[in-house]
Amino acid sequence: MFNKRTEVAKVLNDGQPGEEMIVMGWVRTFRNNQFIALNDGSTNINLQVVAPLGKFEDALLRRLNTGTAIRATGKVVASPGKGQRVELVADQIDILGDSDAEKYPLQPKKHSLEFLREIAHLRFRTNTFASVFRVRSIVAYAIHKFFVDKGFVYLHAPIITASDAEGAGETFHVTNFDLANVPKDEHGKVDFKEDFFGRSANLTVSGQLEAELAATALGNVYTFGPTFRAENSNTARHLAEFWMIEPEMAFYDLEDNMDLAEAFIKYIIRYALTHCPDDMAFLANRLAEEEKQKPQQERSEMGLVEKLQFVIDNNFERITYTEAIDILKNSNHNKKKKFQYPVNEWGIDLQSEHERYLVEKHFKKPVILYNYPKEIKAFYMRQNEDGRTVAAMDILAPGIGEIVGGSQREERLDQLQSRMKEMGISEEELFWYLDIRRFGTVPHAGFGLGFERMVQFITGMTNIRDVIPFPRYPKNVEF
Ligand code: ATP
Ligand code: MN
Repeated sequence: MFNKRTEVAKVLNDGQPGEEMIVMGWVRTFRNNQFIALNDGSTNINLQVVAPLGKFEDALLRRLNTGTAIRATGKVVASPGKGQRVELVADQIDILGDSDAEKYPLQPKKHSLEFLREIAHLRFRTNTFASVFRVRSIVAYAIHKFFVDKGFVYLHAPIITASDAEGAGETFHVTNFDLANVPKDEHGKVDFKEDFFGRSANLTVSGQLEAELAATALGNVYTFGPTFRAENSNTARHLAEFWMIEPEMAFYDLEDNMDLAEAFIKYIIRYALTHCPDDMAFLANRLAEEEKQKPQQERSEMGLVEKLQFVIDNNFERITYTEAIDILKNSNHNKKKKFQYPVNEWGIDLQSEHERYLVEKHFKKPVILYNYPKEIKAFYMRQNEDGRTVAAMDILAPGIGEIVGGSQREERLDQLQSRMKEMGISEEELFWYLDIRRFGTVPHAGFGLGFERMVQFITGMTNIRDVIPFPRYPKNVEF
């Protein structure tokens, strides 16, 4: 058996002076021909492995470059140096894999996030990305735990579908046509009858509609899977492939929905803070350093951990779309024409600058906006009695903007059909969605949380491309 190693995190936490141990990992630095900083990915804190002077041959020591993989066997001792409780004095060092210092792209210095994005296959080896992906993993676990503990059923929505949930049309086609020779019908249109599925198919943009089918039988369900949008937005908060969590609850109204979403967000933040203290401290520090590059007035008032604690400790502000428009319209910012899109009238779709003004400048905390004009929202949202708004809610987070989009769904068959007609959505194609309203319809609601935006919020990473292992965005599908 090869794997008799003790993980570095365990050595650092539980290792007792005198214990014999085997560790394996990668050399981060080797200084004074004596001190190896060893990392094995179990924590962002390196283990100091001491190679006593004169004990090892020069030929071996010369190979201890940044990136070299080694196995070290030795004794735990109390560390005489500052910064660590224990270290390991090596009796034996074996090189498992050499790393040519001249050629290795990662040097023991600070690299820019942009540079690291270009070598995403190696960026797991940096402290920043190792911390981000450990936190991402813990957050994913916390999400499952939150719902499973509440008795929700985890639903696997299909990835290939024939429906476009939002009607947005920003979908990726799924086909096995020979693209140089696509079958056409007599009108010269693509003949999807000849295609793999016998009709036009695409990658899912959302699992919501399918989740509604399950929720109206199983009660409470959630999806957690990849979704795809061919939107050409080169922003720091959009990806072409991203993960979404979509809970859907029978017997829920909009207020129940907001309560669940707020409790959910607080739960996963708290979970990350309590289960990843070292990584969170590291990321907070990283963000503080990054902030120092900014002009004084653009720096945030709170550190990362402080900011997250503040979100946990305070109620989210809940205001209607109409109230938000009043605040924005009457703001000095608007009067001084500082918005790129001025706020003049009720009915406009809020731009991210407006959302950020509300959360960052006006309320200085997460905001739930609800009851939006029906014209700017999807067909399935429940129509309110005023005849002009729907029971939609978006949650806006400081620094990110929209993090959750949700609604109470239209459960009344007549209203749903008339809205679909107004919006030109085919009843025939969505017969299955309408059937839910035909047989035992009930009030129900749900929301979608963008997983990467949540991970961005928790880790303080400014670009969404830095919180998913291999980001997909326009003109990029590397690795
Ligand atoms: P936005 O206005 O920011 O584009 P949206 O209104 O298109 O968002 P929804 O369709 O409501 O978003 O999707 C639900 C959630 O999925 C959003 O609140 C957001 O957190 C996330 N999301 C949406 N589009 C993307 C994307 N391209 N990349 C990453 N996350 C996304
Ligand atoms: Mn969008």
